[in-house]
Amino acid sequence: MGSDPGPGTATSTRWPGRRTGPLTDGLFVQASTKDLPDVAELSGREGSGLVLTGPDALDGALAALEHYKIARPVLVDRRRYATDKRVRGTEPFCQRWLRKQRQLGTAAVLTDSGYIGQGDLAALTAVLGQTARYIDREGTPAGGVWAVLPLHRRWLREDRSLLIAQIKAYGVPVALVLEHEADPLGTRVAVEGLVEVLDGPVPTALLSTDVSALGALAYGAVWTAVGMRSSLRHLYPVTPFKRHGSPSALLDPVLTITSIAKILRVYADASDELIWRCPCPVCEGRELAWLGTIPPGMVAAEAGRHTLAALLERREELAWLSPGERRRIWWHFRCSDALWLYDALGLVDRYQWQKPGFLKSWLALHP
Ligand SMILES: [Zn+2]
Repeated sequence: MGSDPGPGTATSTRWPGRRTGPLTDGLFVQASTKDLPDVAELSGREGSGLVLTGPDALDGALAALEHYKIARPVLVDRRRYATDKRVRGTEPFCQRWLRKQRQLGTAAVLTDSGYIGQGDLAALTAVLGQTARYIDREGTPAGGVWAVLPLHRRWLREDRSLLIAQIKAYGVPVALVLEHEADPLGTRVAVEGLVEVLDGPVPTALLSTDVSALGALAYGAVWTAVGMRSSLRHLYPVTPFKRHGSPSALLDPVLTITSIAKILRVYADASDELIWRCPCPVCEGRELAWLGTIPPGMVAAEAGRHTLAALLERREELAWLSPGERRRIWWHFRCSDALWLYDALGLVDRYQWQKPGFLKSWLALHP
């Protein structure tokens, strides 16, 4: 590790504007560069911003800033940690990739980390150590330098103490990416792990997430990013099988992102219920079933826009509350209301939906 600063390094210079900067309380849209025309307007809204993702994210950031003139935070996540071609966390950062973010004027610098696998302490310390050295050498831009930590699920569970000890020792802001085949925060132990990291001494963000972005913000995440498409809503483990996800959308009253086909089945039986009318700025009061009437090539993008717009409305409610207990209580009751509606609508009994593990796990915490 050579010049690794490690434990004991002064950290305050690495945390500019911890709770006051433009990133604070953000619920950003995480999207690939090809989705930019669909998300540009949405990511310019209050409380929003954009995390362009993938190997061409720098080109996307240039277009977002210069062509679309997005006035909210624009960030880039290279996502070298994903797919079967992913690199390990021990891989050196690309200095050009980091420098280019400063030249473009992105709201903060995100490291182009490799993947941190099960028990791979060398990868974890390589990412944190490189970030600390980079900050010491290059200084900190206004929004900070964030070590992107793409974590195997075990890090929030059995190896949680080790993870937290290392984060604390290196003292750099971290942006977590959680790996799981279905829902990384679908169990109580995982949610407790996340909350313990959020309680720690360094600013923490959550990339590539879903509805749990609201829970993370309620429990102290500085900012979050929600995937525009399901492929960016968490980190999928590498598998030899190709995934074929059907387009999904947020059914806001039950805080659940699920396939549009499932939503339409319930709608067909219970179209007189009040839950269908969506006040988000994309639906503008239309019933959510409108997603079933648009051409297949447009469904995923429109559903993603509705999902993000509705989550941004929820974020607005949360942002009115002061950080701490009031936000946690707000989130507790949002989860409780959503689960109550599952029963009231007969989603489990009549339609064989399952109550999402993340709602039950967040609810189980004592706010
Ligand atoms: Zn909507």
